[in-house]
Amino acid sequence: MALGKAFLLFGPPGSGKGTQSQLLREKLGFSHLSTGDLLRKHLKNETELGKKARVYMDAGELVPDEVVIGMVQDSLSDFPDNKDFVLDGFPRTRDQAIALDALLNDLNTEVGTCMFLDVETDVLKQRLVGRRVCKSCSTSYHVDFAPSKQEKVCDICQGEVVQRRDDSEEVIMERLIQYEKKTAPLKEYYKQKGILVVLKGENKPDVVFQDVLKIVS
Ligand code: ADP
Ligand code: ZN
Repeated sequence: MALGKAFLLFGPPGSGKGTQSQLLREKLGFSHLSTGDLLRKHLKNETELGKKARVYMDAGELVPDEVVIGMVQDSLSDFPDNKDFVLDGFPRTRDQAIALDALLNDLNTEVGTCMFLDVETDVLKQRLVGRRVCKSCSTSYHVDFAPSKQEKVCDICQGEVVQRRDDSEEVIMERLIQYEKKTAPLKEYYKQKGILVVLKGENKPDVVFQDVLKIVS
């Protein structure tokens, strides 16, 4: 038995990785692993891992590789056999990418396609400063472009809609810097493997999703 293929949603903060993974989960029943969501769960539950990760996340820096890789390894072992799945926000460094290849190899599978969501920096900033998220189900909203029907209440689960701690202007700038420095070079890693696809991430979510569907189906 083997896991299905891994599809990566790759791109800068605010490029829409979370939105597209949620659509894949809802519409196609994909399993979904978001390292950002997992880390936030650890923060909320005040686990040892969460305490370690908080300092980095609040500063807009990457959580150390060994912490994130261990977390991903645990989650992958729970994934169902023969079902494709999507990774959102992982890998984010070259060492994470190498570790992922090894983990998947042990599970008799590999990365199918790395989908890069291409978005201009100005647009990213605009999206991130106005972003709000549901505390319970992580659905994203935007104060101007996609507000929840009722202020601060999630349309889907009635959970509380809040601003993420790391969506302050200062931390956003740092996250973008870290992305350029440590994560953007991974584009080349997947390009060389011949599995990088660039998508127009500035389009509306449902338009981007049409492109995603063509790739995963
Ligand atoms: P975004 O893509 O909008 O920055 P995420 O929710 O994916 O948001 O990540 C939030 C934070 O969690 C990051 O700024 C980082 O501190 C941490 N994080 C998430 N994924 C990783 C990863 N693969 N490696 C290291 N840190 C990570
Ligand atoms: Zn919700």
